[in-house]
Amino acid sequence: MKIKKYSRSLLGAVVICFALSGPSCGSDYKGRNLNEISKSSNSPSLPEKNARVEICYPGADRQRKSCVPKVTFAQLGAEASKYQYINPFTEPTFPRGFNKDQYRAPTFFGNLTQVDPRLSLSEHFVRSELLPTSSARGHFGVYSKTILEKLEALRAAVGRPVVVNSGYRSPGYNGTLQGAAKFSRHQYGDAVDFAVNGVSFSRLSEICLSLGASYFQIYRSHIHCDWRSTPLDADFYPHAADTTLARAQGSLSVFDAIDEEAKLQLEAAVQGTAGSENSAFLLSMDLPKEDSGELTHSWRILTPSGKVIESQTDQVLVPEESGVFEVQVEVGGAHVFNQRVKR
Ligand SMILES: [Zn+2]
Repeated sequence: MKIKKYSRSLLGAVVICFALSGPSCGSDYKGRNLNEISKSSNSPSLPEKNARVEICYPGADRQRKSCVPKVTFAQLGAEASKYQYINPFTEPTFPRGFNKDQYRAPTFFGNLTQVDPRLSLSEHFVRSELLPTSSARGHFGVYSKTILEKLEALRAAVGRPVVVNSGYRSPGYNGTLQGAAKFSRHQYGDAVDFAVNGVSFSRLSEICLSLGASYFQIYRSHIHCDWRSTPLDADFYPHAADTTLARAQGSLSVFDAIDEEAKLQLEAAVQGTAGSENSAFLLSMDLPKEDSGELTHSWRILTPSGKVIESQTDQVLVPEESGVFEVQVEVGGAHVFNQRVKR
């Protein structure tokens, strides 16, 4: 019964689109939005929030003519099951301390079914990089125009191609990825996974943070950056238009993404095993991850004066010398904690 309703709505949207914008709408995505049309034709204007039938990205020439038709959840048809967002206000496992307003389901989605994968959303990024489609992913998506500008700024900062390996993910697709977070920002249109040939992940994390990103994680194959504290794109989330619901949180790390109880567990999970010659430290807890893949680990042992005497990527062995050492653990490129050890 639901599917029938969705199909009818989808058909309705197509008809409206052609009737108001002429033959260009839905065929080359250069149609104007409804607000402009209703103003220019002096016809009664529709409520501002719901009036746009397309979302227009800057495109390669910055003329804002790279447009994608917009639909509501009710118009997703047979793919609706891939776009079931968890309600942050009722979900008991929603992480404490996170801003629930930033995790609401989008009101609108871009309908990508007829949008060329090579469509330039901006000078250096095409539709298939940030809004990929397939039968597994689905054919609708959300990507923030503000974050697209950040990616262009990132591209300018490194002066080389930014190789994107993940932008938007539907909740259904995200759920099929082993290890990916239930509330991964990839589902909200403000996250990117990427690499840049010849530029270290730690340098890329600095650039992301300098461009207002509030979270990053470094994996062996890529870096994840997201802008979870930046106001959502009102084209997809009209509730974000009126108020600034996003709150400035500064930069967050893996450690910030877990609650107090988990932090205690984490500290207990760093086990020091005193051997006859060496003390070994292992991190035995799974940390929250945005993506599937292996987070980088880095252990360092420093003297109290800050001199690094040992550095490892899997486990760390405290040297034979006796004295006071500081053990530092970084997971995903973010500092997790320090522990003083005496032997
Ligand atoms: Zn990611």
